[in-house]
Amino acid sequence: MCGIIGYTGSENAEEILINGLHSLEYRGYDSAGVSVSTPDGIKTVKCEGRVSLLEEKLSLFGNLLGNCGIGHTRWATHGEPSERNAHPHNSESLTLVHNGIIENNGELKASLIELGYIFKSDTDTECLAHLLDSFYRKDNDPVSAIIKTVSCLKGSFAFGVIFKDHPDNIYALRKDNPLIVAEGEKGYFLASDVPALSAYAKKVCRVGENEIVCLSSDSCRFYDLQGKEFGGIFEDYDSNGFSASKDGYDYFMLKEMYEQPEAIRRAVGHRLNINGLPDFRVDNIPDSFFENIDSVSIVGCGSASHAGLVGKSIMEKIAKVPVSVNIASEYRYEPPVSYGNTLTVCISQSGETADTLAALRCSKANGSVTLGIVNVVGSTIASECDYVIYTNAGPEIAVATTKGYMTQVAVLAVIAAKISLNKNTVSETYVKEFCHELLYKIPNAVNSVLSRMDEMDLISERIKDCEYLFFIGRGSDNCAAPECSLKLKEISYIHSEAYAAGELKHGTLSLISDGVPVFALAADMKLFEKTASNIREVKSRGGYVVLACNEKIENTEAYADAVFMLPDVDPLLSPMVTVTFAQCVAYKTTLLRGYDVDHPRNLAKSVTVE
Ligand code: GLU
Repeated sequence: MCGIIGYTGSENAEEILINGLHSLEYRGYDSAGVSVSTPDGIKTVKCEGRVSLLEEKLSLFGNLLGNCGIGHTRWATHGEPSERNAHPHNSESLTLVHNGIIENNGELKASLIELGYIFKSDTDTECLAHLLDSFYRKDNDPVSAIIKTVSCLKGSFAFGVIFKDHPDNIYALRKDNPLIVAEGEKGYFLASDVPALSAYAKKVCRVGENEIVCLSSDSCRFYDLQGKEFGGIFEDYDSNGFSASKDGYDYFMLKEMYEQPEAIRRAVGHRLNINGLPDFRVDNIPDSFFENIDSVSIVGCGSASHAGLVGKSIMEKIAKVPVSVNIASEYRYEPPVSYGNTLTVCISQSGETADTLAALRCSKANGSVTLGIVNVVGSTIASECDYVIYTNAGPEIAVATTKGYMTQVAVLAVIAAKISLNKNTVSETYVKEFCHELLYKIPNAVNSVLSRMDEMDLISERIKDCEYLFFIGRGSDNCAAPECSLKLKEISYIHSEAYAAGELKHGTLSLISDGVPVFALAADMKLFEKTASNIREVKSRGGYVVLACNEKIENTEAYADAVFMLPDVDPLLSPMVTVTFAQCVAYKTTLLRGYDVDHPRNLAKSVTVE
């Protein structure tokens, strides 16, 4: 969601800012802009829409020449997406980019208007620009102006600012929003995340909460909120061989789908010892930790909470601990009732999801032990949890998660296996076989579904013009259904609902009429007979049934209009395979409908506002 980029050094800033903004595009945005310190003062160019439009505008109206600048991709929270509301926002003495929300912008705006400031946009950000200007004009000291400004702000924010009097410096600060600084061969950089700087960074530092940084072409200084300077800790940047490019694929989503088998192997293999049994010492989690868990509360948003549903099903079945799955944005209002020693598991691909972070803080305040399942190393959730398990999925760029979800499920499955082993709820042999299947059979099954992508053409062609559709299933197929449904609707914009197969007849069957597509999921053979009855109910009302079922089920044509055979795997883990099937259908259908697979409208990758 929304991105900040900044550069000061010996190179042309505009080019670096535009490249950085392109790398941040995956986060989701609606407008973009840059400001550069030129020999004629700070110049700002912005536009509604894509970074490529900004590029066109810059070449049309004259490129900005200078070695220091800031850029932004905006995801509107206050005011419509428009050029006027796009960042950077200027005040008399400065230009500024901001991510997040200034919650008390109403009061601040009123007092700034009284001071004579004229607002040109509807954003909360402009308030921040003018407030900073008002303090700066009193003593001409950037650090002290930032300190005074921050003491007046409520909300979550990261911002970067260039003062006219200091045209070669970028000042920045973050609170509950990500921000990193990097040292490169030709200067210093500022960005919302590391992939944006992968082409330039040699050393990287994650800016801490409420730390002020001041970048110049040859240094990076850090100050605390008392104005005291301290040394920041830079680490060598290592992309771990992961690339943030499409590597020949048409879309990031497709590339990331194909990366899933390897990502699962990495996420699981890392946590199995020489005997093939789960072992989290590599994550610095002591063995005893898993013995003392009486209940688990899983917290996440969107697909992360869907991964939680699969995790719950596995944990309850094999580890016999009660598990609740909680939507992070609701956590504060409906916190789970704690039972004994509760472990709160916070799942977030980016590790910056604001809702999940808020839930994490709330659960900590309630005394729970917290464990993060996070992809991005060093992110806020990773740093604030008592323990963290990294999914090691590599950068995920497409807004619709694929390998992110898959590795979250994989890690939850290994945790379930570990709790079972330590609590003796199943035999060691069972745990070994379960982990073996997770490490070998599942990645192969996911691969085999991906290799049959062409089989989706017929299904996608059939559903591409429908108004709405359903995914139904029982047991673990019911756990897979919400993610299947979300994948399809978030990128193809066909409304879809996930339903427990037996629940349709309690209301939703009234929506089934001639040709309405229903995806019946039946990876679990044992439950097929019952699901088959629900399929019949749909068929008798004219529904078009796509059956995605275990390859061992026979005579499938008798039940459905279209059939996709899923490789036979342990039903507990089958959602990983079934969801792969749905990802393929979603991808193909979106292409047929002519939408941008990687950038669905209105959605952002890393949702850093509550
Ligand atoms: N709240 C600000 C706005 O609406 C910043 C949004 C963002 O994070 O991009 O302009």
